[in-house]
Amino acid sequence: MHDRSIAELIAAVRSGETTPRALTDHYLDRIERLQPSLNALITRTAEAAHAVADGLDEQSPGALAGLPILHKDIFCTKGVKTSCASRMLDNFVAPYDATVVERLAAAGTVMLGKTNMDEFAMGSSNENSFYGPVKNPWNLAHVPGGSSGGSAAAVAAGLAPAATGTDTGGSIRQPAALCGVTGIKPTYGRVSRYGMIAFASSLDQGGCFARSAADCAHVLSAMAGFDPRDSTSVERDVPDYAAALSGDVAGLRIGLPREYFADGLEADSRAVIDAAVKQYEALGAEVVDIDMPHTDLAVSTYYVIAPAEASSNLARFDGVRYGHRCDAPRDLEDLYTRSRGEGFGAEVQRRIMIGAYVLSAGYYDAYYIKAQKTRRLIAQDFQRAFEHVDLIAAPVTQAPAFKLGEKADDPVSMYLNDVYTLPASLAGVPGMSVPAGFAHGLPVGLQLLAPWFEEGRLLNAGHAYQQATDWHTARPAGFE
Ligand code: GLN
Repeated sequence: MHDRSIAELIAAVRSGETTPRALTDHYLDRIERLQPSLNALITRTAEAAHAVADGLDEQSPGALAGLPILHKDIFCTKGVKTSCASRMLDNFVAPYDATVVERLAAAGTVMLGKTNMDEFAMGSSNENSFYGPVKNPWNLAHVPGGSSGGSAAAVAAGLAPAATGTDTGGSIRQPAALCGVTGIKPTYGRVSRYGMIAFASSLDQGGCFARSAADCAHVLSAMAGFDPRDSTSVERDVPDYAAALSGDVAGLRIGLPREYFADGLEADSRAVIDAAVKQYEALGAEVVDIDMPHTDLAVSTYYVIAPAEASSNLARFDGVRYGHRCDAPRDLEDLYTRSRGEGFGAEVQRRIMIGAYVLSAGYYDAYYIKAQKTRRLIAQDFQRAFEHVDLIAAPVTQAPAFKLGEKADDPVSMYLNDVYTLPASLAGVPGMSVPAGFAHGLPVGLQLLAPWFEEGRLLNAGHAYQQATDWHTARPAGFE
């Protein structure tokens, strides 16, 4: 069952071959057996899943009727703990559903639980979770990537056919790459941020993981679209991404940015990317080299802007209204400082301090304003590139999944891990990671980037590749 595509699963429900309840039980059983070795979930919602599944049948409306799904624990879920993997929200039960959760429920999906992640989505390895790290199903000694590591590992291990995620600087594409699944980060504004706990609001974007681009197309069609409750959500029709997949990339112009293939890209990973690019040529695409000269500014730009926004967004966690509150505060200042000191982990505290610093009087122009200017230059690189090419292809990471603990004490090397994913986030363009092979026994992802609102082009390019290759169907040993 868990090797079928989403289209096949939905068809099996529609034809009465299976029932939403049977599908739900199949995946709940896998979660029961396989979750202990992965730690991919923070919360299971088996009882609620049964109630929802029992209310669905082959007649149910909704494009995804009966499809089991997992939600990243950054999305508010009514009546269900929503922790953002932080001690700060360990006791928080959301009073409402995020728009993404609401839409996917309306489409007939059955939520099985909430996935583990880096605390407040800050991290690239999932080691910054209050609930402990997630393990990579391809090798349990390695990280799954982050911050949406639980969602990526769960889909890779067949704990659910699809999972939601968020990507602020790579948190969908990077774990998708490291776990060997397909992940798409839509254009900034394509998916509502309402009820998605804010990290860096000018960058945060919801998206999804599944095994294939075609599967992602089904899920994205159901979750995307204008939402009056998110002021940056864009009023623009959402195509039926799945229906639009032609699998044809003949004549498509694909640009390879020289800056993404420079020093730092490990040789075996590079060989995988080169082979994937050749596959596109064999499918009739035209491949050209391009320049994106401001790429090397992305890490420093992002690690000013994202912490700045985080320091402001996280000010709301004060120990007063909701979330963690310290015991027996002496006075108001003690209440704030101890609640925040106890509630936030080390990386979150580091980001808040960096953010407060770059926004402070005297440093604001030198850091924050400067970063806004370099962000514009990075966006212009994309604008210019897309005057000549239809798509950009690149690696997602410099190397496959690193070992747990390997970078945990070195924040800068962790930040540098994001070099290939940050530029698209800063520009707001959509991006995807597609499984493209293996290096050192671990998955390698191909990154595809498209112009603003061309998610359909991305998904189609991924689909074309996946019709010609079978990397996306591989399952890690022990998770068959
Ligand atoms: N790794 C990046 C960070 O730590 C991106 C995280 C994300 O996209 N949420 O901020």
